[in-house]
Amino acid sequence: ETIREEYIRRNPRSAELYPRFTELFPSGGAGHDGYVASPFPITIARGQGPRKWDVDGNEYIDYGLGSASLLLGHAHPEVVEALTQAAPVGSHFGAPVESMLEWGERVCNLIPCADKVRFVASGAESTMLAMRIARAYTGKEKIIRWESHYHGWHDYAMPGNLPPFDAPASIGIPQGAVDSVIVLPVDLNVLEETLANNNDIAGVITEGSGASYGTVPRQEGFVEGVRELTRKYGVVMILDEVITGFRWSPGGLQEWLGIEPDLCTLAKILTGGLPGGAVAGRDEVMQVMVQTGDRQHDRYERVLHGGTFNANPYCAATGNAALRIAATGEMQAQADRMAERLRVGLRRIMDHHEIAATVYGESSTFHLYFGGRSIDGLDANTLKNASPDVQTAFRQALQVRGVDLMSRTSGVLSGVHTEADIDTSLEAFDGAIKAMID
Ligand code: PLP
Repeated sequence: ETIREEYIRRNPRSAELYPRFTELFPSGGAGHDGYVASPFPITIARGQGPRKWDVDGNEYIDYGLGSASLLLGHAHPEVVEALTQAAPVGSHFGAPVESMLEWGERVCNLIPCADKVRFVASGAESTMLAMRIARAYTGKEKIIRWESHYHGWHDYAMPGNLPPFDAPASIGIPQGAVDSVIVLPVDLNVLEETLANNNDIAGVITEGSGASYGTVPRQEGFVEGVRELTRKYGVVMILDEVITGFRWSPGGLQEWLGIEPDLCTLAKILTGGLPGGAVAGRDEVMQVMVQTGDRQHDRYERVLHGGTFNANPYCAATGNAALRIAATGEMQAQADRMAERLRVGLRRIMDHHEIAATVYGESSTFHLYFGGRSIDGLDANTLKNASPDVQTAFRQALQVRGVDLMSRTSGVLSGVHTEADIDTSLEAFDGAIKAMID
């Protein structure tokens, strides 16, 4: 039996549902592209702690965790309790609620650069708003971003997402949006040269972990270098902490590195597993959102920002529960320890089977590269395009052994994964590698 045949045999209900998904939804889903659709993705039924179950009753130790939003694991009791208490009170008012105050205070207490914060409804909205604030604050138009860094799916975030970087990673993006974004190779010298030779730059946005949550790892000193150069040339530094926020440390990557960007974007862990996001930043920069003149005309003097579901009460409730727990740092410490145990174990497995693969990752993440014993000198093109068929087979070989990843070769951990979970997972990894070799 091949890996693919075993996958099909173990997932009859997912196989049966998939034609209905493709009939209803273009491309068969809702943009959860991390899911392998060859020949169909598994359909998930429920989750608890570090585990989830699919509609066929198969159990998985989960390293996807809601696209890295669940530092506390699935259905954490305190998050469930917060949501249960909030549910009967009413789902949305489009008006201030007290829980929003607590949520904002938690963000500002934890995140070093956060003098002020503004809630939005997703990570993509957070980068879109941050770019607008940077443009308004400087009166300049262009945003510099790095090849392969991911900042969401909106028009200003798509140019440069995926190789090749000379065209946006989607059709349907207006040329005006493309022209307002400068995509640079990850190189501080190129950044300095660009900043020195252009006077229309509003800001620089960067993922803190490296491209695609560290698939292409951050170079030593890189984020600090971006901080120095943006300060030197008077442009806004936007640190995209949608992944790293509350994960690398309670105060995110900025606390971990000891730097303060002008603005940062937050989502995922921020909301404890419900939709949401935020832009937080220095008071002086965030001032461009303050209404000064009369309502009729003030939109000409400030950054206008709306959104029906911003700071939704359910999201504030689960966000408060999640950040209350994340503030102690215990979840992050456990997740980091378990990620290290997994990375060490994976390296041992690769060595044992003499596989030319590299296992790497920072904080509570891990990545596998099947193209060689080192990733030194490799760029986004190589790391992101490495043998997709091998990656799909690997993901499926793992799934049939009860482990699921976030993408084909990457995963994240939670603070509720235990040593026993890691050791069980390593057996699955070992079995998957054996199945690949056979
Ligand atoms: N920025 C980064 C670094 C991300 O990883 C993501 C999503 O994975 C986003 C922005 C977009 O967030 P969302 O998917 O909530 O729109």
